[in-house]
Amino acid sequence: MPPPCPACGAQTRPWWTAPAAELGLPDVALARCDACGTAVTLDPVPDDRDVHETGDYATAAPRGAGLAAPLLRVFDRRRLGLVRAAVPPGGAVRLVDAGAGRGRFVALARASGYPAASGVEPTARGVDVARARHGLELERATIAAATVPPGSADAVTLWHVLEHVDDPGGTLDVLHAWLRPGGALVVGVPNLASWQARLGGRRWYHLDLPRHRTHFTARGLRALLDAHGFEAERTVHVLAEHNPFGMWQSLVSRGTRRPSYLFHLLKRNAPLDARDLLVTLAALPLIPLAIAAELVAGLCRRGGTVAVVARRR
Ligand SMILES: [Zn+2]
Repeated sequence: MPPPCPACGAQTRPWWTAPAAELGLPDVALARCDACGTAVTLDPVPDDRDVHETGDYATAAPRGAGLAAPLLRVFDRRRLGLVRAAVPPGGAVRLVDAGAGRGRFVALARASGYPAASGVEPTARGVDVARARHGLELERATIAAATVPPGSADAVTLWHVLEHVDDPGGTLDVLHAWLRPGGALVVGVPNLASWQARLGGRRWYHLDLPRHRTHFTARGLRALLDAHGFEAERTVHVLAEHNPFGMWQSLVSRGTRRPSYLFHLLKRNAPLDARDLLVTLAALPLIPLAIAAELVAGLCRRGGTVAVVARRR
């Protein structure tokens, strides 16, 4: 019997077997909830390699990293804008980025009106890069083990983290304890109810199997937030950060042998394959179409990823 839905608690049913995002890993089984549409990854992450430190998530800078930097700044500013609308900046505002990666967002927040911003990050790689590149001292810890004092945070960001954890409800309980009553939580996750998820099917770019454990819908995420003491205020579907690329990549993956070939190639994680490369190059002129299609999807509340802004009750 499949597990209960990690978002709303209803019974799930066996759903798909889908290819792993990481080349060379076995296919992955999923179950899905009829009530809220959220899916759950059934197969464990293989324990013989750390999939969050190798392959697509490895340390080496991706190809074209220099070109991507200004774009990443635009994305980070958008995320900060969501925080800003919920909790105005100020010297005393305690903003915590849970799953801070390489510290880019914390550095931006500190320079943009939140000088007391801090971050928690479990990987050594993230903590080291944050120190070297931004002079930032992130706390190296999992969310459960972090030493954020209870009731101390005014705002917490959880950006593309919740889909990675095995117990999303337990994670929200920890963040609830960090926040003061009325404090804001900004959560970003892929949206399984999106148009691009439908287009991509088993090869949807944001399935990222088996690293993504829960495949939320906006509805499922709001149900989970509600069950763990948060009031969802705002659900944002138009996001430039992951959405247009996910739409284009989902289109291209219909024609390549390997799903998300360009992404793997940029991450130095795929062999050169003439056919997949040709299909990918031939699809480059579709980028404006994908951007337009994703914009319409977002306006119809079917964006590829969503951000929910919620308050601690
Ligand atoms: Zn559900």
